[in-house]
Amino acid sequence: MKIHVHELNASGVPRTIRETLDVSGLFKGRRDVIEAGPLRVELRAQGVQEGVALVEGGLELDLTMPCSRCLKPVPVHVAVPFREHFIVGGEPQTEEEADSFIPSANNEIDLTPYVEEAVQLELPLVPLCAEDCKGLCPECGKDLNEGECGCDRTPVDPRLAALKDLFPG
Ligand SMILES: [Zn+2]
Ligand SMILES: [Zn+2]
Repeated sequence: MKIHVHELNASGVPRTIRETLDVSGLFKGRRDVIEAGPLRVELRAQGVQEGVALVEGGLELDLTMPCSRCLKPVPVHVAVPFREHFIVGGEPQTEEEADSFIPSANNEIDLTPYVEEAVQLELPLVPLCAEDCKGLCPECGKDLNEGECGCDRTPVDPRLAALKDLFPG
């Protein structure tokens, strides 16, 4: 998924980029992602001045994450707007440019790592199967959404617990 900055400026015609990327490898080894992809990319790239291209549009990804309380698989939909300026060679001319432009040594820029990063930043930190998910019993591991297990889960003051051990029953 590449753009050529000089060609975009020379032609003056914006380019539409519509692609679906396989991102299963991106989340390999991550315990908070069960399954992901594909990543749907819809972008418009245009030259805005010599050596500078603006890429904007949207990214969408469907994935399955474990509920952070009960570990049940939860379908998650992520939609992320994307807007970046890329500047080739040369340095950003103003402070504003330095803050918002991505410098590139090459005229040819692969957008893949940038869209992958943008979507990864938007994954929910605490996915839940339901707002009121009761989670798993810390004592026996039973899914409390399916009913009570009968364990005593009242938090015990650790000092009292120690006394209890000294004077059982
Ligand atoms: Zn849950
Ligand atoms: Zn239990």
